[in-house]
Amino acid sequence: MDTRVAVAKKALEKNGYLDLEVDPLMDLFAEIERLKREKNAIVLAHYYQDADIQDVADYLGDSLGLSQQAAGTDADIIVFAGVHFMAETAKILCPEKKVLLPDLRAGCSLADSAPADAFKKFKAQYPDHIVISYINCTAEIKALSDIICTSSNAEKIIESLPPEQKIIFAPDKNLGAYLRKKTGRDMVLWNGSCMVHEIFSLEKLTRLKVRHPEAKVIAHPECEEAVLRVADYVGSTTGLLKFAMKDDAPAYIVVTETGILHQMQKNCPEKTFIPAPPDNSCACNDCPHMKLNTLEKLYLCMEYETPEIIMDEQLRLAAKRPIDRMLEISARYGL
Ligand code: SF4
Repeated sequence: MDTRVAVAKKALEKNGYLDLEVDPLMDLFAEIERLKREKNAIVLAHYYQDADIQDVADYLGDSLGLSQQAAGTDADIIVFAGVHFMAETAKILCPEKKVLLPDLRAGCSLADSAPADAFKKFKAQYPDHIVISYINCTAEIKALSDIICTSSNAEKIIESLPPEQKIIFAPDKNLGAYLRKKTGRDMVLWNGSCMVHEIFSLEKLTRLKVRHPEAKVIAHPECEEAVLRVADYVGSTTGLLKFAMKDDAPAYIVVTETGILHQMQKNCPEKTFIPAPPDNSCACNDCPHMKLNTLEKLYLCMEYETPEIIMDEQLRLAAKRPIDRMLEISARYGL
């Protein structure tokens, strides 16, 4: 093996990715396409990835669509352009496939807000409750859950349970509060949140609405309740995209991670999409974890087939059970 590559592989644990120089003249789009063909690989990308990565993906979607794609693919290698829990979910569903993540450090503040030991103690306080966990959690939390959900199917999953069934919802307290209000169900919430969706400023959003009276506000349910209250539409990332495509407003203030604006603009070139302002000095609301992936790192992980997601088999099987329940309920409702 080339010494440069051997050194980069050795430093993988520290860096989280293969720190190798890529020829700046290389056509990365063409190279990634070649590697897909040669290795029977598929690139699955989340809507919050950079535009370049979205454009090179075979499938683009939110957590529900991505896990359905992972479960159904016949590729030998799944390259997951997203964050760690998403690639881990793909590995849980497809143990026989090689699952690659361009940068292993691409974590998630929401998943980190639910450590397994603390959650186990919390769960023990409510023995007659069923645990529904949002897919944005670690494999350990999935293994402690009864059903997994995404923002696309959470409402249907809750409604599929008998009305008297008590529920623990984890890890996102904002999504949980939104669902509790929508479904009227008895739900105990774990106190976790996403750093990107919690940062939107209601004050700045209100000022932006005054400046753009023609624009509708569309928001992700991971946002705080005060922000959701002023939204014209609340939905999952895919839900927001579909709403913008079928609705007739000329402009939208989009209250979620900015990556989705690329697809909105591509699908509705005649409409204006304005990112909602965060409550910090920076004007952007990018997810720093999602944005750790780059086209260069994507190419390198495909070329050298590392970093790879490796899982303990017992944990994988325990985490798979509630995901299977989610996929089965989603299929039943045609989601
Ligand atoms: S946007 Fe929030 S929930 Fe999504 S990966 Fe980033 S930190 Fe996690």
